[in-house]
Amino acid sequence: MTDCIFCKIINGELPSTNVYNDGQVTAFRDINPAAPTHILIVPKKHIDSVNELSVEDEPLIGHLFLIAKQLAAQEGIAEPGYRLVINTGAESGQTVNHVHLHLLGGRQMRALG
Ligand code: 5GP
Ligand code: ZN
Repeated sequence: MTDCIFCKIINGELPSTNVYNDGQVTAFRDINPAAPTHILIVPKKHIDSVNELSVEDEPLIGHLFLIAKQLAAQEGIAEPGYRLVINTGAESGQTVNHVHLHLLGGRQMRALG
């Protein structure tokens, strides 16, 4: 996907503050952080949104969550806690059409629900 910002970051065409990288996933700090820790955990495979996930992506999505857990510990926010968010579709606020998991923490956040 040549016009995708996150694919460009993954390919090294755009700069980012990288905090994690492996064969399947990369993670970098959000350019416009909504919390003291705001990391985006992104599969290297381009998938537009959760709506486009298929059964073959199941291990990849599990992997995203384990990396989120690891990064939360690294950032010192495993306790007291953090939020994991995946926006899906325009109404949710999704602005980049490449699946990504937001890791947010470092101050108290309003509870959802
Ligand atoms: P969404 O709203 O799609 O769930 O989240 C997209 C996120 O990507 C936003 O929080 C936005 O600040 C972040 N973002 C957009 N462009 C860039 C960029 O070029 N670099 C980085 N590091 N983050 C970006
Ligand atoms: Zn992409």
